[in-house]
Amino acid sequence: MSDCIFCKIVNGEIPSYTIYENDYVKVFLDINPMSDGHTLIIPKKHFESIMDIDKEYLMEIENTSMLFTRVLCDVLNADGVTRMQNNGYGQDVKHYHMHLIPRYKNNDVKYQINSKSKKDVSEIFNKLK
Ligand code: AMP
Repeated sequence: MSDCIFCKIVNGEIPSYTIYENDYVKVFLDINPMSDGHTLIIPKKHFESIMDIDKEYLMEIENTSMLFTRVLCDVLNADGVTRMQNNGYGQDVKHYHMHLIPRYKNNDVKYQINSKSKKDVSEIFNKLK
């Protein structure tokens, strides 16, 4: 998509700190990191979210996510990695992306979603089951 910032990164129209790519995915550092090594994995083809992405791209993203979770722990000495992936509301860039957020015991990231469920769990259960 011509006005998509992540498509522009894929096409090399805007710069990125790309650390890996193959035919399906591009892996680069988040420009506004929540922690040292905050990494994004994106499909090279434009999909908006989990609701429309092709399964072969999703599988590549999962494989790459496994690999880079290990890389972030081994190379940056992260104690863990939190994966985060927004869809629709809360998603600033409407091109599917997986966040890999390294976690460090001695300098942990603080994040929260500011909400509290207003309905009974049983009411939601009855709608979803
Ligand atoms: P989300 O809220 O899940 O859509 O997250 C979008 C992420 O993309 C944010 O963490 C931004 O910091 C990141 N981001 C936006 N533009 C760029 C860019 N040009 N290069 C790297 N990361 C970016």
